[in-house]
Amino acid sequence: MEEPEVEDDTNSNADEDVESMVIDKECWEHEVGDEDVSMKRATTTIQKKDRFLNKLCPNVEEEEDSNIKQLPPVYHVQNSEQQWDEMAPMLSMKFTNPTELKQCLTNYFVKHGYDLWYEKNDKNKLLVKCCKDKEPTCPFRLWASWMQEERTFQIKSLKSSHNCVRDFKIGLVTYKWIGKQYFNVLLENPRFSLRKIKAQISSTYNIIVSIRQCRNEKKFALSEIEGTLKEHYSRLWDYGIEIKRANLGSTMNMEVDHTLDGNLVFKRLYVCFKGVRDGWVEVCRQIIGIDGCFLKGICKGELLVVVGRDANNSMSPLAWDVVTIENKETWQWFLDLLMDDIDRGNGNELTLISDGHKGLIKAIKERVPHVEHRLFARHILANFNTRFKGEHFIKPFWRAVKATTK
Ligand SMILES: [Zn+2]
Repeated sequence: MEEPEVEDDTNSNADEDVESMVIDKECWEHEVGDEDVSMKRATTTIQKKDRFLNKLCPNVEEEEDSNIKQLPPVYHVQNSEQQWDEMAPMLSMKFTNPTELKQCLTNYFVKHGYDLWYEKNDKNKLLVKCCKDKEPTCPFRLWASWMQEERTFQIKSLKSSHNCVRDFKIGLVTYKWIGKQYFNVLLENPRFSLRKIKAQISSTYNIIVSIRQCRNEKKFALSEIEGTLKEHYSRLWDYGIEIKRANLGSTMNMEVDHTLDGNLVFKRLYVCFKGVRDGWVEVCRQIIGIDGCFLKGICKGELLVVVGRDANNSMSPLAWDVVTIENKETWQWFLDLLMDDIDRGNGNELTLISDGHKGLIKAIKERVPHVEHRLFARHILANFNTRFKGEHFIKPFWRAVKATTK
């Protein structure tokens, strides 16, 4: 069956024609509600397309039309959450704007290796064809414009067949498109090299992009990430208020630095949920382990965490802290807030296990002098191994660690 086409949608009748024609089988199958009306619509749709049937019973169409007019046609709507390689344009599909349709088209043509180009491309209409200046010409053709009844961009006509072969250089692939695909990779590792990006794009998407495109996409993705991160950090006050509202009695403490131009810059953050704190205070052994780890990505910094053990000997996180750097001052700040939260004063009746970080050991001596301080066995073993090398030392070491008698 020939697919409907609209050459110019400035003609208002043309729009109506297409819309009535695109209510095809798929559309009325999606209908929910009165089955009778659905069936009548289906019959009418078939009749509209069958001249022979129309001649046999010419009045049916008019009678049924009065029933149909109240029901608007159901169109496919683009799902922006869809996987990139599952996106495909469909006749009558609706998009929020032309940019969303272009994103869908780029994904679809990267997946299949079609070399598309825009014959008309502005904010009101889009005419897309395949294989510019190549022989034989490819029949693919897509026309899209705004709908008349609503502010939605719609594919009004589509010839979806191709006779071209896979092309490895796709004209529609822009640095913005590549940037979107590599957003998370660059968020985790901003130093990801241009050569690696180029090689990965070639193996993952089967397309060839230039180093210049990769450079532009990296610049684009990093500026997007920076903007997004700034936005996220600026919402930390809201986050704190929400924590205190959702779990009354929780602690959220944040410090900021003031820059010369009057802006606020994040310095450190401490969070302890009342729920987990009460759980630890009431049922867990009074032993805590504290340690820090580096945060990757653009902002860097360190995450300081304190954990206890529950009755099943599983980890029971107690509080966490994000700081720019791990030193005596930041550990002291963390211990101050933690001791206030668990109400242990100078560390009375508390055992604390940590690594041998110099700043931390100093902070513990000054801030919680009454605590029973132990080092992680794994760190002791690492030191022990420097003097006593060999597998035969390791087993007895762990036996000694787990022994309950001298
Ligand atoms: Zn083609």
